[in-house]
Amino acid sequence: GGRLAGKVALITGAASGIGLATVLRFVAEGALVVAVDLGAERTNGNDRVLPVAADVRESFQVDAAYERALAEFDGLDVVVNAAGISGAQADIADLTDEDFAEVVAVNLTGTFYSVRAAVRAMRGNRPTGGSIINVSSVGALANFPLPAMYPASKAGVLGMTRAVAALVASDGIRVNAVAPGATDTPMLPSDPDVRRAVVELGVQRRSASPAEIANTILFLASDESAFFTGQTLSPNGGYVMH
Ligand code: NAD
Repeated sequence: GGRLAGKVALITGAASGIGLATVLRFVAEGALVVAVDLGAERTNGNDRVLPVAADVRESFQVDAAYERALAEFDGLDVVVNAAGISGAQADIADLTDEDFAEVVAVNLTGTFYSVRAAVRAMRGNRPTGGSIINVSSVGALANFPLPAMYPASKAGVLGMTRAVAALVASDGIRVNAVAPGATDTPMLPSDPDVRRAVVELGVQRRSASPAEIANTILFLASDESAFFTGQTLSPNGGYVMH
């Protein structure tokens, strides 16, 4: 049983934080999970998880991960794009070309490579389609204390989510985004003052556990959200209210 019983899911960024919490929650809800990450071997040891090492900045590696998933399992129902980096902490005037390009390569282009591969795989599923969930950030919705490239890449993810949702609706594929507020993962700044400033942006004045974000992702993955597409759900403790 479970809310994802019989479903196959591919999750990027699966070896840490929000991605890892989503892997564990999906398995608990009955899914088989393909865990894609630079450090995919960290998800070893669960017989319902297939770890696949890939760098989402390289389209051939992303395509190879999907080929592996489709060779191993019969079809693909859910994709979660959680691989991401926050990038260099520096004043705008000091950011290098590489600082900007690196964050866009992982957060935006990497998400595109995976969305494209997901659509190719899911179009074969008709009429059941599939559900794609892109992890954006509250930094795409409001001012957030990170340099320009992070909110730029995450806002790009929201635009892509809406565009692709419209293009693949007739295939029965849904595409939505989750825009988390501060969440307790290795990505949160370690400096206590910076950390407090980020965490206290929401009226709840706390950070989320990765499991709380996984709950929102689970909803969008499951058939309970069948009437949601092109939407952004933002679990953020009341930082951005809309
Ligand atoms: P995390 O650092 O714990 O996990 C990110 C994972 O992505 C890591 O396992 C890492 O190896 C993987 N990854 C990074 N670059 C990759 C690449 N090129 N190819 C494949 N895998 C790669 O961070 P997290 O907080 O769990 O972040 C998950 C997502 O949530 C990210 O997209 C992040 O931007 C977003 N997010 C996080 C927060 C937060 O406060 N932690 C808030 C909003 C959004």
